[in-house]
Amino acid sequence: MQSGTPAPPSFMKWKELSSLVGSIRTRSLVARPTSIDQCREALVYCRQHGMTICARGAGRGYGDLALNDGQALMDMRAMNRILDFNEDAAQITVEAGIRLIDIYQAVHHHLLVLPASPTESHSSVAGAICANVNGKDAWRHGSFAHQVVSMTLMLADGETLKVDRSHELFNAVVGGIGLIGIIVDATLQLRPIPSPFVEIERIPAADVDAMLATMARVEQSHDAAVVWVDAYASGRRTGRSVIHAARWIKRHNTQSQRRAILEAGYRRLENHRRFGLALHEKFGPILSLSLNFQRPMMAAFNRLYYAGCRLLASTGRSSNSELFLRFGFEASFTVPPAHLVCGSHGYTVQLTFPRSSAREAIVELMRICQSSPCPPVTTILRAHKPDDSLISFSEDGYSLNFEFHPKKRHETASRKAVDQLIEATIRRGGKIHLAKDQVLRPEQFYRVFPRYRELLAIKRRLDPEGLFTSDLARRVGIDPVLNDLSGMPEIGS
Ligand SMILES: Cc1cc2nc3c(=O)[nH]c(=O)nc-3n(C[C@H](O)[C@H](O)[C@H](O)COP(=O)(O)OP(=O)(O)OC[C@H]3O[C@@H](n4cnc5c(N)ncnc54)[C@H](O)[C@@H]3O)c2cc1C
Repeated sequence: MQSGTPAPPSFMKWKELSSLVGSIRTRSLVARPTSIDQCREALVYCRQHGMTICARGAGRGYGDLALNDGQALMDMRAMNRILDFNEDAAQITVEAGIRLIDIYQAVHHHLLVLPASPTESHSSVAGAICANVNGKDAWRHGSFAHQVVSMTLMLADGETLKVDRSHELFNAVVGGIGLIGIIVDATLQLRPIPSPFVEIERIPAADVDAMLATMARVEQSHDAAVVWVDAYASGRRTGRSVIHAARWIKRHNTQSQRRAILEAGYRRLENHRRFGLALHEKFGPILSLSLNFQRPMMAAFNRLYYAGCRLLASTGRSSNSELFLRFGFEASFTVPPAHLVCGSHGYTVQLTFPRSSAREAIVELMRICQSSPCPPVTTILRAHKPDDSLISFSEDGYSLNFEFHPKKRHETASRKAVDQLIEATIRRGGKIHLAKDQVLRPEQFYRVFPRYRELLAIKRRLDPEGLFTSDLARRVGIDPVLNDLSGMPEIGS
């Protein structure tokens, strides 16, 4: 801000921010509104002072989609109230900044669940809508797009409007990485469940064919699933994996018993998070040292884990029941996030590919991983179903989520492998999850999301000055003000 410019409202302050893994550092004028009026005031201030603004939820995306260096951010976390809960219709209306775990705390003991919840339960509702996140039930209940009934959206001129599923803006806002307006509240469709417990079955699969055949069965018989894949297994063992398949089960507890059980479950998640963070703070350097032995250590661990699961399966002890909370969310509390282990060169990427080319895609992506100096520490596969969002990650197919913990000297080679993974995915008609991206280039983005033109046509109409943008939008070439889009083919051409 230039000197002589009037001071921003008291709820706007300049702050240093970084991406989740710390590789991108920014400084922004951060508004932290507590009401719709303050959201509007922040937009007026930005417009009057020639600043752009980017909405930000919990900041749990891995890259730069909720950053706006040198410009303004609208941090929505203080707008986190439940506005209405209709148990009969199984619908909840919440302010944009509420976290998904807070919704669980409000409704789960009523035997309701919010499908498509990502492992990161501290994500905000609006962040989940705008990144169109997915959960372990994605093939059954779809992405977050499928759970949204309606939203209140604030446009660049400060006007608010209700956007329901039939509104022409719905598919531009959902998955639209915040480029159309600020979501101030949303109504979500919840689903009934028989109890908060699931039965988990762990099914070993010796190779990619066995994994895909098992998934085809699990998709018929189960409610949620996540596949641990051994990215170190090669040759005829490529795709060696363990399918963790969950099915809701009945339990005869009263509502107050359920409340008490779930309270203990939330406390356990919180304790895990605190313990995990404390552990990494104390033993971070030792964990970082272990990066030097990553390849042999991970290869041995994976072999042991697979053998253990096979042994349990052969003795009929491969299933147990547990709270869905644990199955759905605990991994984000216990698995050491890449940035805590290896700093800013840690890397996560999630790629979807169509069902029709799944086998070839998995084999090719595994080969690329194995040829990199530090293959991924965790590799997770999920099944998906398509949605109608203009910028959509979901499709009738599978995704692989890779978490890389490269040593510093392997940073460049590791990034090269990530670029090869992205190129291979695009070639096979797949997509890249923008919440987990920090390297996609404009020409790649245009190929992955050809309907960006429709998004931009709407944006030009509603936000001609490009008030809403982000570092990601500028990087992938969809900021209509900064990027010369005049050469772009028209819609429908
Ligand atoms: C450990 C971990 C596990 C994860 N697991 C999964 C997973 O299983 N599945 C999955 O899909 N993702 C997963 N993610 C990614 C995460 O769930 C998404 O990035 C999600 O969008 C984060 O929500 P947020 O509130 O932090 O959003 P932010 O990162 O703050 O914002 C995300 C996008 O939403 C926009 N936005 C936010 N609020 C508003 C608003 N009020 N109005 C308009 N635009 C807004 C922002 O501009 C940005 O484009 C995981 C992340 C972590 C760290």
